[in-house]
Amino acid sequence: MTDFFDAPGRFWRGNLHTHSTLSDGILEPAEVCRRYRAEGYDFMALTDHYLGMYGYPIADTVPMRGNGFTTILGAELHSGAMENGDLWHILAVGLPADFTAPNAPHFRPVADQETGPELAARAVAAGAFVAIAHPQWSGLTMNDARSIEAAHAVEIYNHGCAMGCDRPDGAHTLDLLLSEGKRLNLIATDDAHFSEPDHFGGWVMVKAEENTPEALLASLKSGSYYSSQGPELRGIEVGKTTVRVRTSAVSSVIVQGRASAATAVHGHSMTETEVRLDRFAASPWIRISVIDRAGKRAWSNAIWREI
Ligand SMILES: [Zn+2]
Ligand SMILES: [Zn+2]
Repeated sequence: MTDFFDAPGRFWRGNLHTHSTLSDGILEPAEVCRRYRAEGYDFMALTDHYLGMYGYPIADTVPMRGNGFTTILGAELHSGAMENGDLWHILAVGLPADFTAPNAPHFRPVADQETGPELAARAVAAGAFVAIAHPQWSGLTMNDARSIEAAHAVEIYNHGCAMGCDRPDGAHTLDLLLSEGKRLNLIATDDAHFSEPDHFGGWVMVKAEENTPEALLASLKSGSYYSSQGPELRGIEVGKTTVRVRTSAVSSVIVQGRASAATAVHGHSMTETEVRLDRFAASPWIRISVIDRAGKRAWSNAIWREI
C-alpha cells in the first residue's frame, strides 16, 4: 500500500517506544515529552513497562499535549515466557487508560500468567496498535514470532538496543514472517530510557490529515507511514517491471523480497531512483530500504503485489 504518499494530509514525526521514571527510565514523563517536542517531534507515546513492580503505569501524557504536539497513551506489555524462558516484551500504542492489568509482577515469568500472544490480542481488542518489540535483543524464535497473531508490526530497528547491546534488528524476523504470508508492517523506535545515548535515533513518519491520537492511530493501523533514522521517503510507485522511489538525497536504494531476492542501486544524492524488479518474480511482497551518505536508513512497509 503506497497510496498514502499522495493522499491528503502530511507526515507527522513520532516516537512510539519510550520509558520514564514511571518504570525504569531516568527522566520524569514531562521532561521526556519536553525533549521530544524540542527535538521537532510532532507526537510520541510514553510506553512504560506495564508491571506490578511499577504499579502498572499507563502514563497520563494528556497534559503534555498542545502547540502542535500530541501524545498517544501506551505501554510496553509483559506476560508469559518466550521459548527461551524470558518474559515477553510487547509494544502497545493506543491503550485505554483503564486497560486491565495482567498478572505480571516483575520482569520474570510467573505461573498462571496469560501468554504474550493472549495479552497482545487483548491490547488489539482494546484499540491498540501492537508491535513485537526488539526481536533480536529478546532472542525471539520463529515459533514465538508466529504465535503473536494479533500484532500489527515488528520493530525493524530499536535504537536503545543498538546502543546498549548492538542488537537493534528485526528485519530477519520480519522478512521470514512476510515470506510465510503474514501481512505485518514495521516500525523504527527509540526505546529511550535516557540512561545512555538511546534517544532520537529511530522514528515513524505517519501520514494523516490531523496530528491527533485518533488520526495517527488509524494511519498506523492501516500502514500509512514509513520508518526512518533520517532520510525521507516521498513516493513509491510499483510498476510491472520496476519500482520508482522518491526520497530525500540518498546513496543507496535497496529492494528486498522473499528468500534471497534483493536488488540495490547505488549513486550520489539520488532523489528519484528506478529499481528493476526482475529478481522478484517469485516474491508476493517487496519492501524498500534507503541509506543516505551518513549511513542513516529509512524503511517502507512491505508492499504486496500480484505475481
Ligand atoms: Zn522491551
Ligand atoms: Zn522498552
